[in-house]
Amino acid sequence: MIRILNAEPINYAGEARQILRCLGEVDERAVNRSELLSRIADYDVLIVRLKFRIDREVIDTGKRLKVIATATTGLDHIDVDLAHQRGITVLSLQGESRFLRTIPATAEHTWALLLALVRRIPWAFQSVVEGRWNRDAFRGQELRGKRLGLVGFGRIGKQVARYGLTFEMSVAAYDPYCRDWPRDVQRYRRLDDLLSTSDVLSIHVPLNGKTAGLIGAGELAQLPPGALLINTSRGVVIDETALVNMLAQGHLAGAALDVVRDEWDEARRDQGSLLAYARGHRNLLITPHTGGATRESMERAEVFLAEKLRRWVQGHRQPDVRSAGRMSHRSSVIRRGKA
Ligand code: NAD
Repeated sequence: MIRILNAEPINYAGEARQILRCLGEVDERAVNRSELLSRIADYDVLIVRLKFRIDREVIDTGKRLKVIATATTGLDHIDVDLAHQRGITVLSLQGESRFLRTIPATAEHTWALLLALVRRIPWAFQSVVEGRWNRDAFRGQELRGKRLGLVGFGRIGKQVARYGLTFEMSVAAYDPYCRDWPRDVQRYRRLDDLLSTSDVLSIHVPLNGKTAGLIGAGELAQLPPGALLINTSRGVVIDETALVNMLAQGHLAGAALDVVRDEWDEARRDQGSLLAYARGHRNLLITPHTGGATRESMERAEVFLAEKLRRWVQGHRQPDVRSAGRMSHRSSVIRRGKA
């Protein structure tokens, strides 16, 4: 019987939980990091969302681990290379393009952030609940006719492009690796050219060695004065100190972020310059990585991942007693194989 730890079980999809229960003994336990470390040695499968850094310490402590499963596309919270070296399979949504095309949550959130920013909704609302009714203080700007620039033109970039076109924006993108390019989105071969023409810049790249710090002080300075920046990818892609400077100097009119550097480390996150700036200004909007977190998308993603784990288990079940093609759950063991 395989042992599964679901370390982030709160509101986990009921259908996914049922599938997991058919695979083995499931422990649904909302642990903190030290509890995770003290328990992980007992499990074959670890299920996480984004709360934990699955680093060397966790992987090396999980002596019995065979699978780490996460219903996310970004995998920067897991040391995937090390997991593979240890023969641990990492199951995720990465590369599941057919399924992911049906998930609009992060693109919708990107658009929600942009609309909230240009219509100044959080600050207008705050002012209303504080007893004021001041139309003039919250004059917004329109998107129609503006230029939307996308860095990264994969699944989310393309979904956001469609929203931009619907809002009658002109849409352009920079993505050196993208092959399928629609006619109504202008392609830029150089990031600099995209930056200098974007009234709104929205970031949709994965975090990796090339994209960490991709948008630094030099890149932000190339945006036209009064531009807006949206980031729903990963915080580390943007130099946050440079962003705060550009906002404070007024070069950027505003920014909206769903992700920040060190977002899961409470102390470091709170000490960061972004939060300090946002508390005292009305042009920086931050949400707590809720882009992909809709009821529908999480439920579907968790069921999809549970099915993926089921297929993995079926493929790796090695019965110690084989009988005419039938496999007993109780007698089966799981091989720890290369991913
Ligand atoms: P995707 O893989 O479909 O698209 C990423 C695109 O970025 C690809 O087309 C790739 O060619 C391009 N790219 C890679 N390196 C680049 C570079 N240096 N310059 C320009 N383009 C580059 O991924 P996706 O589903 O669109 O998601 C993008 C990212 O959004 C994910 O990697 C993840 O980090 C983040 N994300 C965030 C949330 C959230 O809740 N905020 C949810 C899902 C995904």
